[in-house]
Amino acid sequence: MSFKEVEQFLDKIAPLANLSSDQLKSLKRPNKILQKTLNINGKKYPAFRVQFNNARGPYKGGIRFHPHISLDEVKSLAFWMTLKTAIADIPFGGAKGGITLDSKQLSQKDLQQLSRQYIRAFYKDLGPTKDIPAPDVYTTPQIMAWMLDEYETLTQTSSPGMITGKPLELGGSLIRDIATALGGVFILEEAIEQLHISQKTVIIQGFGNAGMNIAHLLAQRGFKIIGVSDSHGAILNRNGVDIEKVIEIKQKTGSVVNYLTAERLTNEKLVTIGCAILIPAALGNIITKDNAKYINAQIILELANGPTTLEADEILHQQKVFVIPDVLANSGGVTVSYFEWVQNNQGFYWREEEVALRLKDKMQRAFNNIWEESKNKSYNFRTATYLYALKRIIAAEKLRGKIYL
Ligand code: GLU
Repeated sequence: MSFKEVEQFLDKIAPLANLSSDQLKSLKRPNKILQKTLNINGKKYPAFRVQFNNARGPYKGGIRFHPHISLDEVKSLAFWMTLKTAIADIPFGGAKGGITLDSKQLSQKDLQQLSRQYIRAFYKDLGPTKDIPAPDVYTTPQIMAWMLDEYETLTQTSSPGMITGKPLELGGSLIRDIATALGGVFILEEAIEQLHISQKTVIIQGFGNAGMNIAHLLAQRGFKIIGVSDSHGAILNRNGVDIEKVIEIKQKTGSVVNYLTAERLTNEKLVTIGCAILIPAALGNIITKDNAKYINAQIILELANGPTTLEADEILHQQKVFVIPDVLANSGGVTVSYFEWVQNNQGFYWREEEVALRLKDKMQRAFNNIWEESKNKSYNFRTATYLYALKRIIAAEKLRGKIYL
């Protein structure tokens, strides 16, 4: 979603949040924008870090490697991180980073060089009490490890808490690899209970880390996954697909479409198939004003960031589709990043069950707090979620004397 759209949405909900024009202005302004052009073998790669807001704690947010990532998109993503940390009630602000590149075209050696260059460009603004990056689309624990190593070499320190999503051997946390998906499951379970939904059919659009893991976790819990997709296309079997088999085929052949006991269709068609739960789990702008009216799901769980455009959101609200917005639905990732940072700071590492239990507690509280506040309101759940987050951010800003009434 463009930052313009983010601003439009904020303008729309500002009266509901009782925001003064100064407060609104300050909420729309990122604190700091870092930009640099990186260079490998004579090729140039634009790199960004947007530090949006740190009223509630150090900046926090992933780094995305993608051929179409732009500063404008990084700004939207950094703003959403600010909301996410407030919603999950973890003591961080929000930031996001990116490099415009197609990582599939680079050798491991060049990828490592570029990751190190990114840290050399911005390391003075990063650190465990300043700004803590993490993985995002097409960035991995290995990339976090290179970045950590570069940072520690430059600063001559041991600073495992400067970045999260690290491999376990370098101070990563158990569960972090599946945290976005597992957090989404905990939130979905709460929503299903509150909305009294008995049907358990699921469609998942996107089969990367988040999509694949949630497919596995939901199948384990007795949900019936009837359709999944990746960038090569989609598959559908109304009797349910064998998700372990689909995962195996995806890993072996590179695409879910090679699973043959299902019908083939396009990604566009897949999201319009009737189901109880639709999970967009890839990139943004998948549900638009053009396809929203054909969506036939009871719940949309936004595991991706920004999958629904503002116009589509309105249409879905009119159609009584319950949309669990990205800033809540996928906040499990950053929540376990927080646990990782806490463990790094303590130098004491938790068991898997302990991490899972703490994640469940955070997700349940976040969902139910917003659910309570959204009851009997005419606006949708996304608006309620934003209002909840903004209230917390503004409270911190006010206490700091940064926003005046
Ligand atoms: N990239 C993830 C997100 O968008 C995780 C961020 C983090 O762990 O800091 O929420």
